[in-house]
Amino acid sequence: MPAWPELAEELKQLEAAGAFRRLRGFERREGPYVWLAGRRLLNLSSNDYLGLAGDPEWLRAFLAQAADAVDVDRSGLGATASRLLAGNHPGYQKLEENLARAYGREAALVASSGYHANCGLLPALAGPQDAVFSDRLNHASLWDGLRLSGAQSHRFRHRDYGHLESLLARHRGQARRALIVSESVFSMDGDRADLDALIALKTRWNARLILDEAHAVGVLGPTGLGLAEAQGRIADVDVLVGTFGKALAGFGAFLVSERELADYLVNKMRTLIFTTALPPLQVAWLDWMWSRRGEWAGRRERLAALAAGLRRSLQAEGLAVPGDTHIVPVTLGENEAAVRTAALLQAEGFWVLPIRPPTVPQGSARVRLSLTAAMDPADLERVPGLIRAAAA
Ligand code: PMP
Repeated sequence: MPAWPELAEELKQLEAAGAFRRLRGFERREGPYVWLAGRRLLNLSSNDYLGLAGDPEWLRAFLAQAADAVDVDRSGLGATASRLLAGNHPGYQKLEENLARAYGREAALVASSGYHANCGLLPALAGPQDAVFSDRLNHASLWDGLRLSGAQSHRFRHRDYGHLESLLARHRGQARRALIVSESVFSMDGDRADLDALIALKTRWNARLILDEAHAVGVLGPTGLGLAEAQGRIADVDVLVGTFGKALAGFGAFLVSERELADYLVNKMRTLIFTTALPPLQVAWLDWMWSRRGEWAGRRERLAALAAGLRRSLQAEGLAVPGDTHIVPVTLGENEAAVRTAALLQAEGFWVLPIRPPTVPQGSARVRLSLTAAMDPADLERVPGLIRAAAA
């Protein structure tokens, strides 16, 4: 008899539906590869888009000066308290000033992770008298924040700004504050929001735009600030959310906006107030990496070329490949097809996982090929044919 019979039953059902997930440990990471059960696999499941986390030179160079950067005599690996208590070590101010300066905005606020940022931002800014208009494919952290806020929730079809406008026309009037929320590069579809359309609508309907650039920071824009930089619209985004855990090879997140908003969040954002600050060493690493952004243009170009080439080869195999970025999904439909395809790719040396509901909508299970600038086109040559064979 299992200790939790009802949970065991539910797990069995997940297994039968091809939806059971388990944590898989790998032995080590090596550049764009992971080692698993003694085999080396090309890692197509990481968000290390620029290949920085996989390149030991960055960490070596950082560590060589880290003792000075964090003042080891006075600060350990733990921040000891939340930022409002004793945890707001000097590294925060330096990093936030550098972020705000890069974006040409008044203020930046560093949060413990993208999940913390999104889960805290929406409840701080919206309540039951407010309306939030959210792209259907937004990340779970945005949906969780929205639920926690208790705001009126209006979901628009993915990138369907006509639908968004009809919802604004119907529901904007009654609400005190209206927030439009979108990712910039969508994590599971690898496509981009149309910022001109979103900004036109937020202006017309007196709404605020919150843009989650988690998958675009580091990767898009002439200096890697994200899609808003690429489209010349940074000043028109009311709150821009970026994360350090993906292209920037760290951990944590930031919000960029005006001074009042940052001050307001310090007072109201529960995920900032009630959590321990990031360790000084971690914040020093983030600032050190951020100061090197200018060195990564070549990596961005390589990544874009790699993605365009892979997309062309997948399409030539007749596969459905949404989007146009470094996140390359291949939509397969049912869970079983995604599970089968991922298993074949794994057996052939590619670390690819099936992406299934609830991460993506029912009937759109897929494999997601997440590229990094450290890969070579030759590394990916066999992938389209293998997916075609598994899908047949
Ligand atoms: N926003 C988006 C769009 C994401 O994809 C993710 C993480 N996958 C997050 C936020 C959360 O960021 P973090 O991993 O730093 O918690």
